[in-house]
Amino acid sequence: MTDSLPMRTDHCGALRPADIGRRVALCGWMARRREHGEHLAFVDLRDHTGIVQCVVDGSVDVRSEYVLRIVGTVRARPEGTENPNLPTGEVELGECEVEVLNTAAPPPFQLDERVEVDEMVRLAHRYVDLRTDRMQRNLRLRARVNAALRRAMDDQGFVEVETPMLIASTPEGARDFVVPSRLSPGEFYALPQSPQLFKQLCMVGGVDRYYQIARCLRDEDLRADRQFEFMQLDAEASFASQEDVLAFISVAVSAAVEAVTGEAVGDIPRMSWLEAQERFGSDKPDTRFGMELVELTELFAATGFNAFKAPCVKGIRVPGAGDTTRSRLDDLTDRAKRWGAKGLVWMRVKEGGELESPVAKFLSDEELRGLVDTTGAEAGDLLLLVADERHRVWHVLGLLRLELGRPPVTEGGLQFLWVVDFPLFEDLGDDGRPVPAHHPFTMPHPDDVALLDAADPAELLKVRSQSYDLVLNGWELGSGSVRIHRPEIQQRMFGLLGISEQEAQAKFGFLLDAFRFGAPPHAGFAFGIDRLVALLAGEENIREVIAFPKTQSGTDPLTHAPTPIDARHLEELGLRLLPTKKSD
Ligand code: ASP
Repeated sequence: MTDSLPMRTDHCGALRPADIGRRVALCGWMARRREHGEHLAFVDLRDHTGIVQCVVDGSVDVRSEYVLRIVGTVRARPEGTENPNLPTGEVELGECEVEVLNTAAPPPFQLDERVEVDEMVRLAHRYVDLRTDRMQRNLRLRARVNAALRRAMDDQGFVEVETPMLIASTPEGARDFVVPSRLSPGEFYALPQSPQLFKQLCMVGGVDRYYQIARCLRDEDLRADRQFEFMQLDAEASFASQEDVLAFISVAVSAAVEAVTGEAVGDIPRMSWLEAQERFGSDKPDTRFGMELVELTELFAATGFNAFKAPCVKGIRVPGAGDTTRSRLDDLTDRAKRWGAKGLVWMRVKEGGELESPVAKFLSDEELRGLVDTTGAEAGDLLLLVADERHRVWHVLGLLRLELGRPPVTEGGLQFLWVVDFPLFEDLGDDGRPVPAHHPFTMPHPDDVALLDAADPAELLKVRSQSYDLVLNGWELGSGSVRIHRPEIQQRMFGLLGISEQEAQAKFGFLLDAFRFGAPPHAGFAFGIDRLVALLAGEENIREVIAFPKTQSGTDPLTHAPTPIDARHLEELGLRLLPTKKSD
C-alpha cells in the first residue's frame, strides 16, 4: 500500500456523518459484495463493531470472509440510498483502495442473524461463528460483567487468590473429573468442583476476604443451564455473617447488571425456603409471573372424595386456559404422573363459577364453591389440583406452573430473589441417614442446633441451616452458607451423615487439621457467571455465552474432545483400558 495511514484508523461500525471527508483505513472481513456493472462494486466490510459499505471502482477479486484492509474517504450516501437499519447507513466509503490481507475458504454457513444455523455446524466452526453479531455481543457483554464483578469485589476489600486445578476431591455432590498422575501411578487428581476447601483454608490463612472468578468442573449431565466446566464468582469472608454475605454479593451482582443495562438492581427481596416451596413449588421460584400454588388442604379436610384424602392438597389457577384441549390435559396428567403424582385433577371454570371436571360429581357444593373462592377462579380459567405428600405436591405443581406459565427469557425483566433458611438436610437417604442440602461444612441455624440430637431422624429434616441461594428468573444463580469453623461441630455433622472419622480424615483431614490452628468464623457464596450472563444477554442456553462450549453430549465438535490417548501415554500413566461398553 502506498498510503501513509496506520494499518487501521477506525472501526467499520463507528463511521458517522461527522466523519465525512476523512480518509480512513479500515480492516475486517468481507461480509457481502454486490457488482454494479463491470466497473463498480459495493463491498460490505465487517469487524466486531459492525458493517460499513465501501464503494470500489474497477473490479476486485474479493470473496466472502476474505480479510481486507480498505483505505477510503468517508462520504454521504447518495440521497435515497441511506440504510436506516445500519448504524453506518448514512455514510459510505468512496475512492477505495482494497488490499487483500488474506484469502478465505468459503464460510461453512452464512453469517447472517436471520439465518438459523444448526448448532453442531456452528460449534464445529466456532471461530467463524464468533464473528457473528450475536456472539460478539455476548462475549463482550460477558467481559463487561467479569470486569464489573472484579471491580466490585476489589472495592469491597476482597483479594483475588488463585487456587489449584489439580486437587484432592471437593465434595459438592457431583461426580469428579479425574486426572491420572504420572509420577504417582495408580493415583489421581480431581479437578475442582469448586474452590470450596481452599477458600476456607484461605480464611484460616488470614486472607480475610477472598474472591476468585473460578473455573469449576462437575461431571454431570449437561442441560441448557449446565456445562461440565463453568465459571463462578467465588467468595469467602472471615468474621462475616449471612447478612454480610448477602450484602456484598448483592453489590457485586448489581454492579454486573448495571454494567450491562445501565440500571442498578434495587434491594433484592428475600423469601424463606419454606415460603418458596409453599407458594411456588420450587426452591428457585421464577417470580416473573403469578400462578402461585393455592393451599386447599383445609378445604378438603373432611372430603368424601378419596383422591383428596391426602396430607396435602394444593392447586394452581391458569388464567384463561379453560379451553385447553382434552388431549393436552391428558398430556399434562401423564407428565404429572411422571413427576411422581398419583394423578392430576383438572377443572374448567364456567360462567357463574360452575366447575366442569370429571371429578366434580364427587365433591360437595360447599367444596366446589370453596375452590372457586380460594383460588379466585374466574370464568375461562383452568384449575389443576394435586393431592399427595406435601413435598410431592410442591414438586409436581411447581413444574406444572413453569410448564404453563413461564415467560420467555427476554420477558418479565430481571427478578432477583434471595432464598434463605434452607433446611440443613434435603431428605433421608435409603440408609435412613440425612442427605445434606448444601455441602457438609454448612452451619446449622443457631436456633435448631438442639434438634441435631433428636432420636427420630425425621426430626433432623426440620433443622434449618445458615445457607442461602440467589435466584434469578427461576434459575439458581448460586448458593452459599455460614461455615462450620469448630472441629467438634464438624465431627458431629460427619457423624450424622455417616462419614466415619477415618473417612473424614482421609477425605478432608487437611481441612479439619487446619481448623485446629485457629479458624475464624467465616461465610461465603458462589454464583454462576455463565447463567447470569445468559440471562443478561437474553439467551436461553448458556452455550451462547461461552466461547467454546461442549455439546449436550459433552463433546467439542471443533477439537473433537474427548479423544483417545495412545498406548505409550497410557503405559506411562499406569493405566489399562477395559473394553468400552456400548451404550444401550
Ligand atoms: N462452593 C459452593 C458451590 O459451588 C458455594 C459456596 O458454598 O460458597 O456451590
